[in-house]
Amino acid sequence: MVTASTQKTRPLGNSAKRPRRNLAALALVVMVSLALSVAALPQIEERLMGGRLRQDEATMRLVTEVIRGALSRTEALPALIAERPILRDILRDPDNTGLLPFANEQLRQTALSLDISDIYVMDTFGTTIAASNYRLDRSFIGQNFRFRPYFTDALDNGIGRYHALGTTSGQRGYYFAAPIFDGTRILGVVAVKITLDRFEAAWRDSDSRIFVTDQHGVIFMADRSDWLFRTLGPLSEAALEEVQSTRQYPITLLTPLSLRREAVSLSDFRSNALTRMVITTSEQGPEQRQAFLAQQSLIASAGWRVNILTPSGSARTEALGLLAILWLVILIAGLSAAILLQRRAQLLERIAAQRELAETLEARVQERTRDLNSANTQLRQEVEERTRTEDRLRQTQAELVQAGKLAALGQMSAALSHEFNQPLAAVKSYAENAATFLDRGRGDEARENITRISHMADRMASISKHLRNFARRPQDQLRDIPLRAVIRDALDLLDPRLRRAKVDLILDLPPEDDEIMVVGGRVRLQQVLVNLLSNALDAMADVSAPILHLSVTDEADDMIALRLRDQGHGLSQDAQAQLFDPFFTTKEVGQGLGLGLSISYNIIRDFGGRIEARNHPEGGAEFSLHLRKAAPETPSAPREMKKA
Ligand code: ADP
Repeated sequence: MVTASTQKTRPLGNSAKRPRRNLAALALVVMVSLALSVAALPQIEERLMGGRLRQDEATMRLVTEVIRGALSRTEALPALIAERPILRDILRDPDNTGLLPFANEQLRQTALSLDISDIYVMDTFGTTIAASNYRLDRSFIGQNFRFRPYFTDALDNGIGRYHALGTTSGQRGYYFAAPIFDGTRILGVVAVKITLDRFEAAWRDSDSRIFVTDQHGVIFMADRSDWLFRTLGPLSEAALEEVQSTRQYPITLLTPLSLRREAVSLSDFRSNALTRMVITTSEQGPEQRQAFLAQQSLIASAGWRVNILTPSGSARTEALGLLAILWLVILIAGLSAAILLQRRAQLLERIAAQRELAETLEARVQERTRDLNSANTQLRQEVEERTRTEDRLRQTQAELVQAGKLAALGQMSAALSHEFNQPLAAVKSYAENAATFLDRGRGDEARENITRISHMADRMASISKHLRNFARRPQDQLRDIPLRAVIRDALDLLDPRLRRAKVDLILDLPPEDDEIMVVGGRVRLQQVLVNLLSNALDAMADVSAPILHLSVTDEADDMIALRLRDQGHGLSQDAQAQLFDPFFTTKEVGQGLGLGLSISYNIIRDFGGRIEARNHPEGGAEFSLHLRKAAPETPSAPREMKKA
């Protein structure tokens, strides 16, 4: 048991340590993951930034293409419109006011259908004669645009293009202009203006900044209006003069943004076509510093640059956000793993405890089984011993029975010798008489004597047969035996004694035709009856007119009672106490062994019955045998009669 319990505690200790080791390993894994993710932060940031820059680059190209497309689509329009005869006509004859409304309306219709802000016609002096906006308050008619480079360029070079903040409309516009020829003579100039506001609306969705700068570095278009007309650096004198002379923008608006350019290298982002820089801006009011990575593309025809500024902090925020999610995932995974490990440890502990319990139980069961086995073996040995003892007892009992019978025979020998001697003497005298009668020729009388001799011989043969049966060793088996026949045999056996003692035998048996079958052995039951009858005769030795009552009655529970009552001295107190003990006798030495009742007791018990004795209220002793009634219709009875 001791070794068993030490073996059992070992796995429990191991299973308790293992989860602790697992938890430590898990904590280490989590910490290493966190550390690695922190170390990887710059790379993640750079990758994210690269992605953002590529995205913004694509946006920038799109913006560039949209503007470039819009400009190139409009570029050819003035030359086409200049071909219209009505324009030539009104220029040729400015005083013909009848044509002007038609010209104006035509221009209006054209502007409407082409989605163009304004179309207007100027004479060679720059004064507007006809305009699409002739109906509006801000109508250009009568206004002079000689100061605009597109006008002079159209006159000088055949094409003019320009962008400016409209002096009349206050709207930013791009202007294309072409001369109106009359043969080779220039009659005037037609100008087409497109507004730029509509492009900007689409830029406001992104958190990157998008703006367009002109050749001087003035922000001419922007996603946010507060950056409009700000410059990326201080303007040169010449530039300022040019702006002022052409009234391109109001000079007061042109204040430089506070920015600082820095070199930047981004390993993940290689695009030679783009300029890369970090711009720091600080706005008016509450100071705001924002770092951007800037990309630029050129719209050569207009001399514009499309700028896209990607906030560099956003990648860090995004990277940190990503890391936070990653950490959260790692932590949740770690926690789940820890919980799982904990559960597993508990389960292991429970299993170990159950195993320990099961082993203890098993050990106990084994112990019990061993105990039971040894008890069983002991019991078996005892049973064998008992069986042997019983066999010995049975043997002894059988021998005693035999001894008892022989003793009874011994007791009967005097009577028997008388029984034999008397008929022998009678046979002798009958024989002599028969001889005498024969001599005298009295045949009938001789025959009578011979018949008597024959009767005597029969009687002696009968006694001899009973004696032989009585002396025989009985069989052990139980059979159904006829009680009436057994009683008759016993009485026959004791007949000489009964007659000598002049006993008046009163038999109280059921009617003749009712055979009484009981369970037992014929010889043994006969021996019991002989015993009881002998004892009764012994007890009545001094009684002058002895009477014996022998009755057989049915009892409850399928039993048969045989009662034998004498008129002797009855049972003394001693006798009542020890009646059935072996070797208890009150008789003289040589008269009794004290075995008769003890043997009878055992025989009746073997039959499944019982024997009882009492003093009858009217005097004398009464012995009763209670025997089991045989089951009806049993075929063994007749055979039993022959064998027993
Ligand atoms: P034994 O006849 O050899 O003495 P038993 O066992 O047959 O042995 O009887 C034991 C004793 O029981 C007898 O000695 C006698 O004292 C007493 N006993 C038996 N039968 C009777 C009886 N019918 N009346 C009085 N006493 C009896």
